[in-house]
Amino acid sequence: MKITIHRGTNQIGGCVTEIQSAKGDKILIDFGHNLPEGDKPAQDKYDEDENVLNLLEGVSDVYYTHYHGDHISFESEIYRAGVTQHIGALSLKMVKTLKQHMQHADSLKERATKSLEALEHFKIYKPKHTETVGDIRITPYFVSHSAADAHMFLIECDGVTILHTGDFRDHGYMGGGLMKNLKVNVVPKHVDVIITEGTMLARKDEKVLSEWDIQNETKSLMSQYKNAFVLCSSTDVDRFVSMFQATKHQRNRRDSDYPRWFVTDAYQGDQILNIKNNLNGIYSDIIFKVYNKDFLPNMVKNGFTMLVRNTETFEKYLAEIVPHIDLNETVFIYSQFKGYIAPTHSAFKQSTYDFVHKYKWHLKELHTSGHASCKTLAEVCNLVNPSLAIIPIHKEADTDFASLPISSELKKKIVTKSMIFEKENGNFVKFEVKE
Ligand SMILES: [Zn+2]
Repeated sequence: MKITIHRGTNQIGGCVTEIQSAKGDKILIDFGHNLPEGDKPAQDKYDEDENVLNLLEGVSDVYYTHYHGDHISFESEIYRAGVTQHIGALSLKMVKTLKQHMQHADSLKERATKSLEALEHFKIYKPKHTETVGDIRITPYFVSHSAADAHMFLIECDGVTILHTGDFRDHGYMGGGLMKNLKVNVVPKHVDVIITEGTMLARKDEKVLSEWDIQNETKSLMSQYKNAFVLCSSTDVDRFVSMFQATKHQRNRRDSDYPRWFVTDAYQGDQILNIKNNLNGIYSDIIFKVYNKDFLPNMVKNGFTMLVRNTETFEKYLAEIVPHIDLNETVFIYSQFKGYIAPTHSAFKQSTYDFVHKYKWHLKELHTSGHASCKTLAEVCNLVNPSLAIIPIHKEADTDFASLPISSELKKKIVTKSMIFEKENGNFVKFEVKE
């Protein structure tokens, strides 16, 4: 069998992994777009149809680990090429909601419409249910990530077992089951090759807060400030929960007939409905109101938590709200990657910086990564203990997986260049790195 990393050994985002059986069955894991650099639109060689078609040569199926744009982005081109695409059920709903809202913007309408046509033909995989593509067997297992409904894949082909982790973490609300899941479902399969994300290798010194820490810190902010605007990802379900639970906690403490409202826009509201209708417990608990100018007197009187986005619509909403509230009683919680608003960082986005600093509210940065800490990456590798190789992807070029606290035996198995591995029983894997 053959593993080809078309992209991802030297960059975060846009990873494409190919698995090919000896007989020639071929699948891809993820096929997303390069991440943008700051405010500049992302450049990607796969924006050329010809390059997509070349990559799809002989490929019958694409399996997506989750819905982030750096993992799924070329679905309409792939659909037109006759390739079958697979994703989790809730992921599909959330991508559809995103594209339906993108149709409202003139500049995005055409691409969103084509995407929705492709999404109608997606197949849904279920966690723990094995699917077969020729000689390739794929079993998805749930992982916690800053996207809902993310999965890692256990792939068995020609006597070789591969674990492709996708993006994952153990510090989200559903991350606690990671090690048990691996112990019960993955370790007994005797993994030969682990293909793992390494995003946090570049942020080794960052103290990784849990989503519970974020919630507790937000509770404390909400006890200090009557009003809170929150800038976070509109598909990060754990962050929605943290912000809502902190709001609810504060509301229950307040001696008021009127609740402190949790306010969204129509898009965020639709994504929360997806979560409420498909997940249980803290996820189905969220109660929200979609912003309407008529709510303003109530919001001004009782305080509020409002999820915002850096869009023209929110510029308008803020212009309506801000003149009526006391900015000394208002916190703006910036709950995204800090690089976007750090002027010296390569990911700096001037428009986000301007949005965050538009008014003289109290600005508070409060965020935790959607990706596994270095400690967790090491624990996963030590536990899975692959017999042949560790292939790091979704990582910065100048980071070194060998710097993690993994056993010296495992350090020798880290591969970043094309080579052939052979198992004791004679099965072998051809490994190729394209970029
Ligand atoms: Zn992701």
